[in-house]
Amino acid sequence: MRDVTYLRPKDLQDAVQLSRTTPGCRPLAGGTDLMVMLHARTLRPAPRAILDVWSLSELKGVRRVDGMLEIGAAESYTGIIRSAEAQQHLPALVAAARTIGAAQIQNRGTLGGNLANASPAGDTLPVLLAYDAVVVTDRRSIAIDRFFTGYRHTALQSDELITAVRFPLDRQVVFRKVGTRAAQAISKVVIAVCRQPARVAIGSVAEVPLRASGAEAALASGDVAGAIAAVTADIRPIDDVRSTATYRQAVTQNVLRELLRQ
Ligand SMILES: Cc1cc2nc3c(=O)[nH]c(=O)nc-3n(C[C@H](O)[C@H](O)[C@H](O)COP(=O)(O)OP(=O)(O)OC[C@H]3O[C@@H](n4cnc5c(N)ncnc54)[C@H](O)[C@@H]3O)c2cc1C
Repeated sequence: MRDVTYLRPKDLQDAVQLSRTTPGCRPLAGGTDLMVMLHARTLRPAPRAILDVWSLSELKGVRRVDGMLEIGAAESYTGIIRSAEAQQHLPALVAAARTIGAAQIQNRGTLGGNLANASPAGDTLPVLLAYDAVVVTDRRSIAIDRFFTGYRHTALQSDELITAVRFPLDRQVVFRKVGTRAAQAISKVVIAVCRQPARVAIGSVAEVPLRASGAEAALASGDVAGAIAAVTADIRPIDDVRSTATYRQAVTQNVLRELLRQ
């Protein structure tokens, strides 16, 4: 970490300028993923500069924009949990935020960080897929179903900053995370479901958070049993330190059945 320059932009415009002109620059929001990777020296390529976007007021808050609910990229999970607008319109996102780490992580962790980190186990990511969220950056809008391009890879350019995430106001989405404990647990399986339009989004079962296309097609035609049967072919779980592929297949079907009953 000795050779890393720390940059603190005064506003978003300054941040965008620094990000575009500083070679090897990496954004820092809450630091709950980035600092761990910096200390472990697992970031490739190793960053030469850290751009601290945590305090930028333009990246905070929950507000209405163009008939959608917009959450700033650097808004914390605690901010989302406490937002009356998020509670009213995005209860599944609030439910997901409550499962992330514990209070300390919820106070620092952000939606933008969860997105850019792009872990297949990121708990908000299936929720964003089920809501058809839109990722807003300093230069464009990206539909969430085009955002994850491979294992921990995203559609973002290396100097691109996420500024916000936008959600439609009229979706009924339900969420469930299966982990070892109620807190401080990385997901074995995480699912978000919407009935209308049909969305079945799942994390920790493939190299990216995915939409289960077979299950969605069955659900769209009103075939709930077909959706539950089809979902096992949509996912590609593996055995790892947290679970087994066999368990993930079974629990995905069981949780989907429960969520569709809701
Ligand atoms: C103890 C512990 C428990 C955890 N539990 C969970 C959990 O239960 N569920 C879960 O999903 N995650 C969990 N995490 C992971 C982490 O807290 C989340 O992924 C969090 O949302 C990351 O947000 P952050 O603001 O801290 O990101 P940071 O660490 O600041 O950044 C993460 C990545 O995003 C990039 N980035 C950040 N902001 C932007 C931006 N605006 N534009 C572009 N790129 C950006 C950074 O460069 C970096 O690559 C846990 C982490 C810890 C340490």
